[in-house]
Amino acid sequence: MAGAGDAALALTQLSGVGPSVQEKLHRLGIPDLPALLFHLPLRYEDRTRLCPLGELRPGQRALIRGTVSRASVQFGRRRSLLVKVRDDAGEVGLRLFYFNKAQQAALQPGVAIQVFGEARRGATGLELYHPEYVVAAELNALPAPDGQLTPVYPTTDGLTQRTWRKLIDQALQWLARRGQLPDLVPEPLRQRWQLPDLGAALSFLHHPPVGTDPDALKSGEHPCVARLVVEELLAHHLGLRQIRARLRSEQAPDFHPQGTLVKDLLQRLPFPLTGAQRRVLQEIDRDLARPVPMLRLVQGDVGSGKTLVAMMAMARVMAQGWQTALLAPTELLAEQHGRTLAQWLEPLGVSVVVLLGKLTKKQRAPILAAIAEGTALCVVGTHALFQDDVDYARLGLVVVDEQHRFGVDQRLSLREKGRLAGRVPHQLIMTATPIPRTLAMSMYADLDVSVIDELPPGRTPVVTTVVSNAQRTDVVERVHAACAQARQVYWVCTLIEDSEELEAQAATELYEQLAAALQPYRVGLIHGRMKAQEKASVMADFQAGHVHVLVATTVIEVGVDVPNASVMIIENAERLGLSQLHQLRGRVGRGATASFCLLLYQPPLSQAGKARLNTLRATNDGFQIAEQDLLLRGPGEVLGTRQTGEASFRIADLQRDQRWLPMVKDVAETMEQQYPDAVTLLLARWHASDMNYGKV
Ligand code: ADP
Ligand code: MG
Repeated sequence: MAGAGDAALALTQLSGVGPSVQEKLHRLGIPDLPALLFHLPLRYEDRTRLCPLGELRPGQRALIRGTVSRASVQFGRRRSLLVKVRDDAGEVGLRLFYFNKAQQAALQPGVAIQVFGEARRGATGLELYHPEYVVAAELNALPAPDGQLTPVYPTTDGLTQRTWRKLIDQALQWLARRGQLPDLVPEPLRQRWQLPDLGAALSFLHHPPVGTDPDALKSGEHPCVARLVVEELLAHHLGLRQIRARLRSEQAPDFHPQGTLVKDLLQRLPFPLTGAQRRVLQEIDRDLARPVPMLRLVQGDVGSGKTLVAMMAMARVMAQGWQTALLAPTELLAEQHGRTLAQWLEPLGVSVVVLLGKLTKKQRAPILAAIAEGTALCVVGTHALFQDDVDYARLGLVVVDEQHRFGVDQRLSLREKGRLAGRVPHQLIMTATPIPRTLAMSMYADLDVSVIDELPPGRTPVVTTVVSNAQRTDVVERVHAACAQARQVYWVCTLIEDSEELEAQAATELYEQLAAALQPYRVGLIHGRMKAQEKASVMADFQAGHVHVLVATTVIEVGVDVPNASVMIIENAERLGLSQLHQLRGRVGRGATASFCLLLYQPPLSQAGKARLNTLRATNDGFQIAEQDLLLRGPGEVLGTRQTGEASFRIADLQRDQRWLPMVKDVAETMEQQYPDAVTLLLARWHASDMNYGKV
């Protein structure tokens, strides 16, 4: 925007905006008047119509009017003031748990009252708890119903709805005086989509007239909502394109086939690469050979062999004496990757180091030195990889595993660490959370995407069964039988509360029960509260087959690879997201033995819950599952962006507004060619150049 410094746009010219309100608005990302106009209502209330008391239904939010017939203080579990209101057709109660003498005095039988609130079934029939109300001597003296829907704004502590309405009304007056906000969606494009102009859309959305269908506003069908959705999506997409262009203008070291490392590795593998792995590697090779930084997302379902693809890409770079870094989301996974890579690379003379947060200063020192000198070619680790004291001699490629666990900022800081003489490292990003096409298009316009759409041969699909907790004893027997056949079992304990401590506790209890029930077989325990050292040693025991059943929390969700494990039991499966269940299930079915996944649920299971779990039973295809998950839970959950704060739109909702995405893509190109000035202004208006996702 023109910036908070532009006096003509300053918020402080509004009455009611002093330093404290201004500060609150700033924190909500509202630096000036135009931004205030873009602060749109979350929903609307209909106070345009009086609802006769006889028509009021539970759950309805309504404006009602009548005469107080009775008012009395009730002494139930909590003291409250109950006020009965009557009209010709019926009676309702108002219940106030907090009230003062003045209120009590005003609410006397005989006074006229107008009330807005939500009707619920209460102790005395329909009741409205703590409604808004006004009283008057007689009905005729009450205010007339509103002439428009009442907006309800998203807000923060200390800013009431009344404040918002007052501020925004002033901003609308300012807009009317000023004539117009520049409409940055070019006229011909607006016409093609039949979208209203910006000023009209904003005025309408802040004050929808009587008769406007609130559902059309909510569903995004209304042209005024669509107008703003399109503008925001457009800004977002243009922002991504700009970033991509910026990245393309950076330089990177180019790596052409050289040396024998790649060939030697391929020869030593006990299996051939799958067709999909080979294809994706070719795509990566082409990128690496160009002096422009690669930014490629590799999507591959759980178990499709992404680690191997990463290693081969790294080998290409290391063959020329450049370093590579593999970033993993958990220490468990980093250690596993470290072992896998060392197993293949060290016999060929490539040194692999693993850098973890848990290391002591003394353990860190030699690793840091090897990284700084460049003798450690292959660096594996967690967040520790981009801490301040880590210096890379020459970093040519950064691989990020399970990228949805990392924010873009973290990815960026590793890239910046690798900046050397004006060149930045290539980036490869791997994810097993398949991103549905429409979403990928809008979220990752900045990335090239490769898909590993084939599993290594000889895998038998995991057979999934949905089992009630009531049948636990049978499940334990099945596990016993599986152990007798030298199979290994994961038993995953999950809780709904987001508490590592409670989860650890539940896992420990389960561990004790199973250890007793499954004798003579060995049961192991792993959870987030254990020391890294303990975790690593339990994992090593499980990997080596010394532990038959591993009781775990969701710490094992991503990446863990123990091919001999063939049974997965997941507790409270009804509470987890589909993609998460799919990830967990992906820990088995990695070897040739037939694998099973039992989803335990606590009855009664709702219809929807049943349908969800059946999706998993019906398919092993991560893409289909992600599409379902998207429908059920929305993009934030599927992409894991909840944690990282990416993908936050102010008005658009990627799922609701998907239908606009293809058009937005087209128009973005047209705008870049024909309306470059509008592009610049649009990016500024929506801060699309400096949003989180903007930094890649
Ligand atoms: P993910 O894509 O889930 O990260 P991994 O990289 O952990 O999958 O690989 C899963 C398993 O498949 C590993 O045990 C790995 O050794 C094995 N694997 C990878 N590629 C092949 C292949 N081409 N043929 C046979 N097995 C493979
Ligand atoms: Mg993996």
